[in-house]
Amino acid sequence: MLRMKRILPVLIFAGAFAAGCAPQGEPTLTRMPFPDVDSSPHSPPRRETDRTPTPRPEPEQPQRTAETQAPRRRNEREWRYIVIHHSATERGNAATFDAAHRRRGWDGLGYHFVINNGAGGPDGNIEVGHRWHEQTHGAHCRTPGNEHNEYGIGICLVGDFSDRRPSRAQLRSLQNLVGRLASRYDIPPERVIGHGEAPQQSTACPGRHLQSYIERELRPWLRSRRAVAGR
Ligand SMILES: [Zn+2]
Repeated sequence: MLRMKRILPVLIFAGAFAAGCAPQGEPTLTRMPFPDVDSSPHSPPRRETDRTPTPRPEPEQPQRTAETQAPRRRNEREWRYIVIHHSATERGNAATFDAAHRRRGWDGLGYHFVINNGAGGPDGNIEVGHRWHEQTHGAHCRTPGNEHNEYGIGICLVGDFSDRRPSRAQLRSLQNLVGRLASRYDIPPERVIGHGEAPQQSTACPGRHLQSYIERELRPWLRSRRAVAGR
């Protein structure tokens, strides 16, 4: 019964994503999630000032990073997937998405991270939701068995990428975040997916431009670092 109580709201919430991606969030923001996954959610927003070009796949040194070497904390979940979304809105942030969804009776921001686009938060800023701090399941991608919500890290980029690309700052932050998460949880590139790639989804999320980035740049980059690392 306890388990039902926990899962039921998730199912209701996740149903809302069947046709696309509704937004939501939590008034937090921070820097990267490691090594301080338990850090206060009230640290000030990180300003994205680096305007380097869109990230390109490039060889990296074998992963000897803080992510892979830091001991796993007891409360860290056994994450198996990274699922990337767009908000399908022009603007917004974790707080506005969270509030909108709470008004609908859901249990707050369904994603673990939100990457701002300059309209609602600094371009490229990464917001960390309460689900990440609590290391709890997402509510962003309902699949058979609820596998992708239970074990999938949900990342939402603010914007509608059906007709344009995310900003360079957003892609740079996405690459940085996904690289860290994939290393820490040893998530293989094929499990880093756009929402619509998950089983039995009928959604345009995360928009064809972001989906194209995932397929043509992000996964190849992740594969190249694994190859260099001998994995
Ligand atoms: Zn989505």
